[in-house]
Amino acid sequence: MNRPFNFSAGPATIPLEVLNRAGAEIADWHGTGMGVMEMSHRGASFGEILNGTLATVREVLAVPEDFEILFMQGGGLAENAIVPMNLCGVENPKVDVAVTGSWSQKSLTEAKRYADVQLAFDGKAHQFHTVARTGDWALRPDATYVHVCSNETIHGVEFQTLPDLKALGITAPLVIDCSSHIASRPVEWDKVGLAFAGAQKNLGPAGVTMVFVRKSLLDQAMGICPSAFQYKLVAANTSMYNTPPTYGIYMVGLVFEWLKAQGGIAAIEAQNIAKTNLLYGAIDRSDFYRNEVDPAFRSRMNVPFLLADEALNERFLAEAKAANLLSLKGHKSVGGMRASIYNAMPLSGVEALVSFMQDFERRL
Ligand SMILES: *Cc1c(COP(=O)(O)O)cnc(C)c1O
Repeated sequence: MNRPFNFSAGPATIPLEVLNRAGAEIADWHGTGMGVMEMSHRGASFGEILNGTLATVREVLAVPEDFEILFMQGGGLAENAIVPMNLCGVENPKVDVAVTGSWSQKSLTEAKRYADVQLAFDGKAHQFHTVARTGDWALRPDATYVHVCSNETIHGVEFQTLPDLKALGITAPLVIDCSSHIASRPVEWDKVGLAFAGAQKNLGPAGVTMVFVRKSLLDQAMGICPSAFQYKLVAANTSMYNTPPTYGIYMVGLVFEWLKAQGGIAAIEAQNIAKTNLLYGAIDRSDFYRNEVDPAFRSRMNVPFLLADEALNERFLAEAKAANLLSLKGHKSVGGMRASIYNAMPLSGVEALVSFMQDFERRL
């Protein structure tokens, strides 16, 4: 098999070791004679898988005990509604949202259906290339929660450190959409009230969404919140209020075991830094390619870049594909290219991309 390097933003590349292990176990999980997809979610085998996965996630991500870890469905976009439905059951709910790219823009729009929403920061005024200091955001002292997208997958903007609301005297919990960088770096749990992530970027297959929510936030759901999406009910039933996405949970478990075998979050973070240094370094040293994001906010996971001559885009993509480097086309809203280099993208993949880029430039 000639496995290409897949730079897709999501669903995205999964570690080959994980795919091989899932493949080996597809029809017979641990001698049960059954595949994970066929098992009752109430049975002992799946119970072992779920509990093992929860324990590994808690250990690898160092999730404090006062957070519930939930497996849900609906992806990141559904959480844009599920979060307000779970937190806005208070008088005059107010949600402050920092818009740093397309994903937080969607969160802001959706939250308006449930709460009085304020734009805390508007990155559009800066072409989404940078983010103002949190102290300069328009934050309300009585906000119900503050929402940020901690890594903007399309614009390639990442918070290197999360907003410290407490330091600003704001007691509202911080909600982070960390769909596209979860498990790529440590989480500053002390700053977080709730974190959610669709799995298909860094954790496994599409169809399972992880939610990390402080237990103290479980009692403020709106009356209209569907039972299956109520964090309190889902938590009380260990993510089995209804049938959970069993196979996705199993795959997430394998990915976290893989992360642990890599040396955990510290080791994968070091690897991610090495990959980004290589790629941004090559882009910055060239006049042929450019990345316009403020270096203080450049994403380690999603690297958008433009060719100086946009007329060469199609040729770049065709030749990259011929070199086994796939899915480098940028999102239509920003154009150009985007290399998504999640945890599962090996350093050798980034080396191959950089050497292709340099060769492409040289040949013109
Ligand atoms: C991909 C992504 C989403 C959307 O996930 P869906 O599963 O398609 O709903 C939301 N937020 C961010 C930051 C993402 O990268």
